Amino acid sequence: MKRRSFLKSLGGSLALTSLLTSNSSKSSEKTEFKWKMVTSWPKNFPGLGTGAENLARLINGLSNNRIKIKVFGANELIPPLEVFDFVSNGGAEIGHSGAYYWKGKSEACQFFSSVPFGMNSQEMNAWLYYGDGIKLWEKLYNGFNLVPRPAGNTGVQMGGWFNKEIKSVDDLKGLKMRIPGLGGEVLSRAGGVPVTLAGAEIFTALQTGIIDATEWVGPYNDRAFGLHKAARYYYYPGWHEPGPTIECIINKKKYNMLPKDLKLIIDIACKAVNIDMLSDYTAKNNMALQFLKSENIKILKFPDEVLARLKEITEVILTEISQTDDITQEVYNSYMKFKEDVSPWTNISDKAFLNI
Ligand code: CA
Repeated sequence: MKRRSFLKSLGGSLALTSLLTSNSSKSSEKTEFKWKMVTSWPKNFPGLGTGAENLARLINGLSNNRIKIKVFGANELIPPLEVFDFVSNGGAEIGHSGAYYWKGKSEACQFFSSVPFGMNSQEMNAWLYYGDGIKLWEKLYNGFNLVPRPAGNTGVQMGGWFNKEIKSVDDLKGLKMRIPGLGGEVLSRAGGVPVTLAGAEIFTALQTGIIDATEWVGPYNDRAFGLHKAARYYYYPGWHEPGPTIECIINKKKYNMLPKDLKLIIDIACKAVNIDMLSDYTAKNNMALQFLKSENIKILKFPDEVLARLKEITEVILTEISQTDDITQEVYNSYMKFKEDVSPWTNISDKAFLNI
């Protein structure tokens, strides 16, 4: 009965935090599965870290503590970029991270978070849930003893912070910018110098001139790091990360030990957090953007010529990586076909509507 009313209230409103803390204390059920969740985010980092906490609270609450998950922030148990291997090896049962960090395992991983000039969050979800996305993702991760689920999205990111105006492709030449992954590779072929730095190191590097520019996430997270105090020019759009999916990964052996209802609870909890995180980012980006405007930040759009060049380079790079192995080719084909099919609809629906 308690669980039914809990589910009912969940359907009405997704105020996850307040909802779930009230349900956890009086459990009549016995804990059957004590799990550790490792994440790539600082503990409780706005949006990403709080998303991981919400996911754990939701699974604990919905299962009436039959599964009990304890969340570990980055470096509490393992370094942030060891989440994949650690869960794969069974060191922890579950993890919360981003698939593009695992391109060393297969280039295909990147398509399950975000690729430059790729799909936005809504299109990604459509591909994952109603195209072949999750099916292919499961196929890819099966070899690593993992079950993947979408469990968060930041929405379109910002292009980043620059210490000078970007008026043409020439302004990218020699530009030292913190931009990881494929975006960095694109910048490099445009003449820039991509740098990889962990989140916590970005502010000092930008302020002291070790780097000329940086991307991070968007107003909500960028304000939290104080990046507006280190550079004046804030560029959009985030061509390199148009709507990154955040992943939940579960050790496959541990997942298969669960009864059907608990598997379903994990699936539903991941879906709830997927939409909740995007809503959180949309609401808080909006507020942070208003603040940044009041701080006299120059908010500028990249020139069309610059975006066109970066897009051209991206297409070459994506074609190159599609040929690295069979699964990447399969994922690339599915992703690109879905993108091609969904764009005409996006153009005459969301895009047309927003333009008016
Ligand atoms: Ca980013």
